[in-house]
Amino acid sequence: MNNGEVSMLSLPTKEDMARIQKFSRRKLKDDEVFIFTITMCNNDIDADYERFSSHSVFQMAEKYLGKTGIAQFEEQTAYPVIFDTGVKIDPDRKVDGGVDDYVELIARAYFVKRPNNLKIVDAITTGDLREVSVACSVKRAICSICGRGDCTAHQKSLLYDGYTAHKILADVSEVFDWAFVAKPEKPRLKVKINRKRKKCYDK
Ligand SMILES: [Zn+2]
Repeated sequence: MNNGEVSMLSLPTKEDMARIQKFSRRKLKDDEVFIFTITMCNNDIDADYERFSSHSVFQMAEKYLGKTGIAQFEEQTAYPVIFDTGVKIDPDRKVDGGVDDYVELIARAYFVKRPNNLKIVDAITTGDLREVSVACSVKRAICSICGRGDCTAHQKSLLYDGYTAHKILADVSEVFDWAFVAKPEKPRLKVKINRKRKKCYDK
């Protein structure tokens, strides 16, 4: 499953505050909450030749509501809660060779701004924290060509009558905790490559 990504920052509206209030015992003011929107996943075919069924995306929208995530930056940690989810349908964009409309799971999360998490507010605002890892379990993986769960006739990534064979992940049983993916991964990788190059150069 690919990572999700923060796609929008906004100020909470009255409706947002009403939704958020359900998760807090004390009355929250709109200037003390930080909210952001994450595009969690979609129903398009991924690099592993798998895709969620549209129904799975709708199931995840239900199951992610109220789920707490983890955001860490330097020494600070915040626990954003998903207070709103929705499925965005794009009828102009098709997946699976035109069989299905493209759908995306959109989740909106909040946390209360405190002195000990303001670096995280800043990191999400600047984009230093952007990618979100999401994971779930599904009950069935169905062959896109014959619809069987135990298909051995069709191979992922091959074309059959113009349709790319892939697995359709159907019936989401559980969604797991979500978390921001630490950014240092990429710069660290770059450092390694540079060192290697330097060694070659030295020789
Ligand atoms: Zn098959």
